Amino acid sequence: MSIEAQYRFVLKRIQDSCEKNRIAHQVDLLAVSKKQLIEKIKELYHIGHRKFGESYVQEAVEKIELLRDLEIEWHFIGPIQSNKTKYIAKYFDWVQSVDSMKILTRLNNQRPEDKQLLNVLLQLKVGNEESKSGCSEEEIFEMIKSSSEFAKLKIRGLMCIPPPAFDEKIQKEYFQYCYNVFKKLQMVAELDTLSMGMSNDLESAIACQTTMVRVGTDVFGARD
Ligand SMILES: *Cc1c(COP(=O)(O)O)cnc(C)c1O
Repeated sequence: MSIEAQYRFVLKRIQDSCEKNRIAHQVDLLAVSKKQLIEKIKELYHIGHRKFGESYVQEAVEKIELLRDLEIEWHFIGPIQSNKTKYIAKYFDWVQSVDSMKILTRLNNQRPEDKQLLNVLLQLKVGNEESKSGCSEEEIFEMIKSSSEFAKLKIRGLMCIPPPAFDEKIQKEYFQYCYNVFKKLQMVAELDTLSMGMSNDLESAIACQTTMVRVGTDVFGARD
């Protein structure tokens, strides 16, 4: 299938799922272009897509430089090492994988003056696997409480990556948990973005009120 056909098929899945679950809000599609060729990004851009996600800083910076004439909204979605925050602060419009106060502070201090506020999602830890990144509900409440200290950031909501599950029922339990935390946070802060759902589980995420799905494989094909 061509990229255009794959892309339109993903859009159709999102639309069908929104109808089935009577979702009234917009569900955005983030095209995850990590490990994909620059030509594929251009192809999708020329069809009209604007939101792209990258996971590896060095690869991302190279692509962003090469594509700087295009009006792309770039989202960083990978694990964040503190020595890479200056690049994220300089090159990206959004960062979805923030999981500590230390990273928030660095991004705020390193965001260039001439750039708009950096949009931030805090990554909620889901499932009890030690290896997975993200922070607890309590840590997220602490970060939200301190958000006024970060003049160059705009905290927009939550991102989560649950452990892979084939069973829809398990997928939905994880997503429902994230939605519940998001709802609680919305009582204390103005948040509008809940980023959850990927190629294999976007329907479950939509059933649980996601506002943004991040899809790589099903839009671009398998990564190398
Ligand atoms: C790679 C990645 C995706 C996309 O995964 P696919 O299964 O290819 O759709 C989404 N979110 C994050 C955080 C990723 O690292």
